[in-house]
Amino acid sequence: GGGGKVVTVLVLGLDNSGKTTMLRTLTTTEQEGQRQGPGASSVPTVGQRQENFQSGGVSFRAWDVSGAARLRSLWERHYRHCDAVIFVVDSADHLRLVVARSELELMLSHPDMSGRRLPLLVLANKSDAPHALSAPHVASALGLERITDKPWHVCASSALSGEGLGDGVSWLARQLR
Ligand code: GDP
Repeated sequence: GGGGKVVTVLVLGLDNSGKTTMLRTLTTTEQEGQRQGPGASSVPTVGQRQENFQSGGVSFRAWDVSGAARLRSLWERHYRHCDAVIFVVDSADHLRLVVARSELELMLSHPDMSGRRLPLLVLANKSDAPHALSAPHVASALGLERITDKPWHVCASSALSGEGLGDGVSWLARQLR
C-alpha cells in the first residue's frame, strides 16, 4: 500500500460473464477488507449496475452493459474518465460471443474511446468450464486483430479460482505504469 498510482479501469461485459466474481476474487486475494473501505461502493440502479473498489492502487469501476441499451448514455459518461478497460467474456457461451463482439465494437467506436491509446484487457473467462473456447479462439471471434489504436491482450481466466487473473492484471499494470 501507499504511493500506488490510482487509475480508473472500466470492467465491461455481458451479464453472466463473471464480472462480479472476478472483482470479488481480485479484491479478496489482494487485501482483505478493502471492499468495505471508503473506495468501495455498489450502486444497484434500475437498468444498470455499477461497482467501485480499490485494489493494488487501482480504482476499478465495473459496468454491466447488458440489458441497458436505453440507459447506455448513463454509463457511457464514464468512458472519457477511464484509463483502461477490462472486457470479460464467457468463453463457454458460444452463442453470445457475437453479442459480446457487437458490445465491444460499440464501446470501441464511441467518440470518447476511439483513437485513445488506452489498454484493453480481454478476459476469456470460465476457462475451467467444459467446452470453453481457447483465448486465441475468443480473440478471433471478437475480431481483436482489427484493433490497431489500442494495446490489447487476451487472457484465459477463471474468475472462480483466480487462475489467469494475475497475469491479466499485471499486463494491465505494465501498460499503465
Ligand atoms: P456477471 O453478471 O458478469 O457479474 O457474472 P457473475 O460474476 O455474477 O457470474 C455469473 C455466473 O458465472 C455465476 O454463477 C458464477 O459463479 C459463474 N462464473 C463466474 N466466473 C466463472 C468462471 O471462471 N468459471 C465458472 N465455471 N463459472 C464462473
